[in-house]
Amino acid sequence: MLLKSAPFISICILLLSAGCAVNPITGGDELMFSGDYEQDIALGRQYAPEVEKQLKGKIDDIVIQNYMDSVGRKIVTVSHNPNFDFHFTAVNDKSINALALPGGHIFITKGMLLKLKSEAQLAGILAHETVHVVARDTANMMSREIGLNVLLVAVMSQTSSEGAQTVAALAGQIISLKYSRDDEKTADLGGLDYMVRAGYNPNGIVGTMQMLEKEDTIRPVEFLSTHPSPENRVDYIRARIQSRYADKIEGSKIGQDDYQRLVLDRLKDLPDSPQKP
Ligand SMILES: [Zn+2]
Repeated sequence: MLLKSAPFISICILLLSAGCAVNPITGGDELMFSGDYEQDIALGRQYAPEVEKQLKGKIDDIVIQNYMDSVGRKIVTVSHNPNFDFHFTAVNDKSINALALPGGHIFITKGMLLKLKSEAQLAGILAHETVHVVARDTANMMSREIGLNVLLVAVMSQTSSEGAQTVAALAGQIISLKYSRDDEKTADLGGLDYMVRAGYNPNGIVGTMQMLEKEDTIRPVEFLSTHPSPENRVDYIRARIQSRYADKIEGSKIGQDDYQRLVLDRLKDLPDSPQKP
């Protein structure tokens, strides 16, 4: 591929700015980009529109979207880094899935929303994805599996039809990237911490995980294919609740009525959005 000089120079600057930093969730040293995570935010922002399009677009309901945002904000406020550019968006895709782009664009599908029963269950999923953003799991995975230079060059050339096709293909690849089991366990336990700090009943995430596992016996669940389940997922989550949060359950928010009214009842009344190919 012939590289034009401007993108090539900016990639060099970017690579030079990579350095070692401490991951706030695991405490381990990892290769990171510039210290203030601006690169993550830029990368996520550049791919979010195409990813949203491939997930069949935003659900056209302001109440549902505001609700996603309000639950997401409660999680972000107690996270290790609220300074990312967080956006929580419900999309029309019928698969059971949720995903996070670097920098804070988090998507949850209609298929997933229809299977959840309470705000605490929703908070569990959003908290899990928030950990992937803060721990920079998606950013590291995209950089490792696809290559940062490939992602950046594609975005810079997307004004041409060939470039737009490349961005679309890369967005498809991003959607299907698989986290490692270690990242998953960290996101499960870190997400549990976040949801409890945000005032939610920790058993919400247990209910969500049990639902996902049950659905997976009927047909493969997309969330579990890209977020591979470490063994004993429900067991270690329960053990953490028991050891750390047993006294936090009483009085914590479940939010079954709110979820019914602000999500499930509204989804029922929405026309089935066209599932574009
Ligand atoms: Zn995950």
